Amino acid sequence: MTRQCPTPKRDGDECRGNVPEGKYHCYFHDPANTGKRRKAASKGGKGKLSRVSKDLHVLLETLTEQVMSGDVEPYPASVAGSLIGVRLRLLEYERKLKETDEVIGRLDALEEAASKGRGPRPLARSAPW
Ligand SMILES: [Zn+2]
Repeated sequence: MTRQCPTPKRDGDECRGNVPEGKYHCYFHDPANTGKRRKAASKGGKGKLSRVSKDLHVLLETLTEQVMSGDVEPYPASVAGSLIGVRLRLLEYERKLKETDEVIGRLDALEEAASKGRGPRPLARSAPW
């Protein structure tokens, strides 16, 4: 009942992707979806994402497509997924480190300003009553 997707995988083997009813290619090889998929990939590109985040988006999407179409075996893909997870934790660690550095820097500046008698010192002002 299931039709064979006519587009070969990158290694030349036949594609094992499911061909939807009334379609000729599987989802990942359907030319009609190319624009859609590209749009989905670049959706994360807008806003404040770092280059690394964008790269990871693309990598994850590519990996997902390759697993779904049979280009990549599930096991190597699963290992790649774990490594991506490690990288995400590293990114999170770097972000926290940067944030802490920023806070310490601002605190230092405040303390320096306070020690020179400048800066806001609301407690030292005379009471309004
Ligand atoms: Zn296919």
